[in-house]
Parts: sequence; structure tokens; C-alpha cells
Amino acid sequence: MDTYDTIIIGAGPAGLTSAIYTLRARLRTLVIEDPSVLSQAGYAALVENFPGFPEGISGSGLVQNEKKQVISFGGQIVSGRVKSIEHDNREGRDMWSVVLDNNRYQALSVIAASGASAKRLGVPGEERLSGRGVSYCAICDGLFFKDKEIVVIGGGDSALEEALFLTRFASKVYIVHRRNALRAVKILQDKALSNAKIRVIWDSVAEEILGDDKVTGIRLRNVSKNTSSELGCEGAFISIGHTPNTDFIRDIVDLDNDGYIVTDRALNSSNKGIFTCGDCRDTSLRQIVTACGDGALAGVSCQRYVDAIKEAKSQG
Ligand code: NAP
Repeated sequence: MDTYDTIIIGAGPAGLTSAIYTLRARLRTLVIEDPSVLSQAGYAALVENFPGFPEGISGSGLVQNEKKQVISFGGQIVSGRVKSIEHDNREGRDMWSVVLDNNRYQALSVIAASGASAKRLGVPGEERLSGRGVSYCAICDGLFFKDKEIVVIGGGDSALEEALFLTRFASKVYIVHRRNALRAVKILQDKALSNAKIRVIWDSVAEEILGDDKVTGIRLRNVSKNTSSELGCEGAFISIGHTPNTDFIRDIVDLDNDGYIVTDRALNSSNKGIFTCGDCRDTSLRQIVTACGDGALAGVSCQRYVDAIKEAKSQG
């Protein structure tokens, strides 16, 4: 089996940035990308707050550019779903085996950059109508809702960005939010609240997504008045936050109560030789720019770790 200096799990902005750093430090680097998981950046139609792009840039464009950069530095990107990571001790050296569905790779170190996935609401109709009007990605599915009335559930940055993007297609976009104040950053609130196609339904939660074989509406509960009503719509975009993709690693590193990987200041996990960066780690800000910053730090920490192992080996 080939041995890499480091294996990076995840090909979003965090993982790809860490690869740029490890590759430039001449570490033999493999990036594993799960084709069934779109990086959160890939959902962003227009990223306005990534420094250096005054006109904005699409999230997927940014990721594609980073992939080209990784390949230009000699990096290898393979597809696969990581099931687990196993510890090995060979010739007195700590090694890690990264186990995929039908393959395994081995490395001196691992950088977990596996990101986070959209949370489910958990209401009746959601799963059954998923892909039939229920969506978690406006950029993927927005085009199907030309001139239709749709609902976006959530009040954070993602929900408002999705709602604004969907106004390109839909005739009307209702934002259903469980409180009477939005969580999103003020500039997005201003844009959404002044958009003629958007109406916010305050203090309300979706109790059920309605429809037999496609979405025809949602049943709402007004939580301050405790009343129930139905709202007709043909699409329901759910945008209520994320859960970290850390199941594959939960047995070997410490996670916080929400499942995010706990790190120190250098982005070491609780297990030596496993580093982490981006949305899957315990952090107070999850942005593309912070994911990239994390990636740089994890890459450099990893390089120092691998160099120390190699130096110790060369000295005997
Ligand atoms: P978020 O900030 O956690 O917001 C989730 C929203 O969904 C909140 O408004 C929350 O309501 C609501 N919510 C949560 N659970 C719910 C439930 N069961 N039923 C109904 N509503 C529910 O998540 P996010 O918007 O995905 O953003 C995640 C992170 O990415 C944030 O740090 C955000 O700043 C960042 N982000 C940044 C950008 C950007 O800068 N361009 C874009 C997208 C995301 P409450 O408000 O009542 O809690």
C-alpha cells in the first residue's frame, strides 16, 4: 500500500487550502472527495465577502479554482466515502489507515476537512417529498421553480441568501422564521426585506409539508398565537443550519456536544497526527474565508508534525 505524508478528507475550501500548504511544503498529499457531499461553498451562488473579489464569485467557481491550484502543485484528488480511520503502528511509527467503502489509504497524518451537511426539519412530508419540491439547495434546484410560489424555512445567512437567489426564478418567496427577528447579517436582512418578491412570515414554524407526489403547500403554526394555517406553495427550501460530517471519526477524536471536532490553537485534534479545519471543527465562525484560514493553519501544523517524524527517523 502507498504511504502518503498526509491524507486530507474533504475537498471544500478548508481541505483544498490545507492541500495547497502541504503540497508547497513538499508533503506527499492525497485529497479524498466524497462525491455525494457538496461543500457548503458549492451552494453559494454569489460569495460577496471573500476578500479580493469586488464583484463577488460563485462558491463552486472558487472551489474549482482551488482544485486546479492543488493539481498544479502535484496534488492527487480521488473520489470516495471515508468510513473510518484506523490507527496502525509500523516500525515504531504512528500511521493512519483511511478506510473507504472499497479501498484504503495509509498516511503519517490526516487532516479532517469533511464539512457539515444541511439539517433536516424532521416534520411529516419532508422526507417523502424530498426531491419533489423539498430541497436543501437553491442553487441546485432553483431553476425548477420558475414563476412558482415557494417557501424558505430559516432565518440565518443561508436562508436569506437562498431566498434572494430564488427571487431570480420564483414569483413569490415566503421566508418562514420561528422568531420575530432574523439571525442573518444586517446587509442580507436589508436586501431581503426590501425585495418586492420576498415576504417574511414571522413567529412561525412548518409543522408539515403537504402534497401527495409533489409539494402543494405547508402547514404552519404561529408560535406566539398558537394558531395553525396552510400556505399553498410548490417548493419548500429548508435552510436551518448544519450538522458536522464527523461520524467516520467520532471513535478516535474528541467531539463537542454537537458533534464538532475539538481542537487546540494549532488545529490538532485530541489524537496526535490528526488535524482538522473548516466547518467540521468546533469554531465560532463558519465562513469560506475562515475555512481557508483554518486550512492554511492545519496544513502548516501538519507539515511541522510530519517533518518532525521524518527527522526523528533519519536520526536513527
Ligand atoms: P444558522 O446561522 O445556524 O441559522 C439557522 C437558522 O435556522 C436560524 O435562523 C434558526 O432560528 C433557524 N432554525 C434552526 N433550527 C430550526 C428549526 N428546527 N425550525 C425552524 N427554524 C430553525 O445557519 P446558517 O444560516 O446555515 O449559517 C451557518 C453558518 O454559516 C453561520 O455562521 C453563517 O454566518 C455562515 N454563513 C455565512 C454566509 C456568508 O457570510 N455569506 C452565508 C451562509 C452561511 P433562530 O434564529 O431562532 O436560531
